[in-house]
Amino acid sequence: MKNLVILGGGYGGMKILNELLPNHLPEDVTITLVDRVPYHCLKTEYYALAAGTISDKEVRVAFPEHPRLNVKYGEVTGIDTMDRKINIKDAEPLVYDDLIIGLGCEDKYHGVPGADQFTYSIQSIEKARHTYSVLNNLGPGSVVGIIGAGLSGVELASELSESREDLNIKLFDRGKHILSAFPERLSKYVENWFVRNNVEIINNSNITKVEENRLYNHDEPIECDVIVWTAGIQANELVRNMDGEKDRMGRLIVTPIHHLPADEHVFIVGDCASSPHAPSAQLAEGQAEQIVEVLKKRWNGDELPASFPPIKLKGILGSLGKKQGFGMMADRAITGRVARMLKSGILWMYKFHNG
Ligand SMILES: Cc1cc2nc3c(=O)[nH]c(=O)nc-3n(C[C@H](O)[C@H](O)[C@H](O)COP(=O)(O)OP(=O)(O)OC[C@H]3O[C@@H](n4cnc5c(N)ncnc54)[C@H](O)[C@@H]3O)c2cc1C
Repeated sequence: MKNLVILGGGYGGMKILNELLPNHLPEDVTITLVDRVPYHCLKTEYYALAAGTISDKEVRVAFPEHPRLNVKYGEVTGIDTMDRKINIKDAEPLVYDDLIIGLGCEDKYHGVPGADQFTYSIQSIEKARHTYSVLNNLGPGSVVGIIGAGLSGVELASELSESREDLNIKLFDRGKHILSAFPERLSKYVENWFVRNNVEIINNSNITKVEENRLYNHDEPIECDVIVWTAGIQANELVRNMDGEKDRMGRLIVTPIHHLPADEHVFIVGDCASSPHAPSAQLAEGQAEQIVEVLKKRWNGDELPASFPPIKLKGILGSLGKKQGFGMMADRAITGRVARMLKSGILWMYKFHNG
């Protein structure tokens, strides 16, 4: 039997399972999935989990079941591509024939002193739960500083302001306008929403230091009861520590068919793989589909493609609380209720197909 090991059952890992199971896995291949969480987590909803507007159960989806799928619950501690071995905390190492690394990303603190120690995070389910608990235990009038107004910072600030009108939310962003990756029209729409909903936006900010319950913007101290970091991500530390060329987010550079240039048996998917596109669940799923194509061809003894057509991304949608939203679909800006309904619809479909 050959062992295909998948590290991480996030959007990339889950898509690979769904593409291979139940009918496309050759008789002589078993899959071992390793994750520190015993179910697939819907990371795109962590902003709502942290804000306390959805329950924990709503962001969990069971992993599929199959006689040749072995789900291993544990913490990956090392990836040894020389000996084709995966180290897992308090468990025997796993040996693989083919490996897919989809361990996602972590916060990047850009060297801001104290940021790793004194800010809360929504980059893993454990951290999002912890953030939920501190945010929701705050008394009225408490100050919440959210550092970084990209998609996740905006979604968290809006969800929290809608559910806790008594909080004083400050959203800090480096840019002249928030949501720098979106057209200015959309940024202004979202900024107006925040003005109407009493979220203070601090543009052109530069967070120089964080201490317990205090952040420094251009060295000016600002007292906060809770500070949440949404100002940057980088590849999982295990990937950053691997040999091989990486981009500025620590993501491994891969060939056009998604494996390491020096090892055709090690594939990288999702937030761990370098790409010209911004990291997203959609991108992870697109890469996963192509990796499955390569594996199926290799297992069949067919010639491998030199490359794939570009992955088609449908767009990106953000929420502003439960009723309004914004986004880009097929290069067109959309705002308001329609955007929010589309986002909810996509989540519903995802759960329907994976649940
Ligand atoms: C608030 C927020 C909103 C977002 N909204 C969108 C959106 O609207 N649309 C969109 O396309 N994308 C969105 N994203 C981005 C999207 O969530 C990620 O790009 C996507 O999750 C990447 O998928 P992945 O498979 O690479 O990793 P993940 O989905 O993060 O999965 C990684 C898996 O690895 C496991 N893992 C990590 N380290 C270890 C270890 N050491 N040992 C064992 N297991 C480990 C984790 O438990 C997890 O299951 C959002 C992200 C956030 C934070």
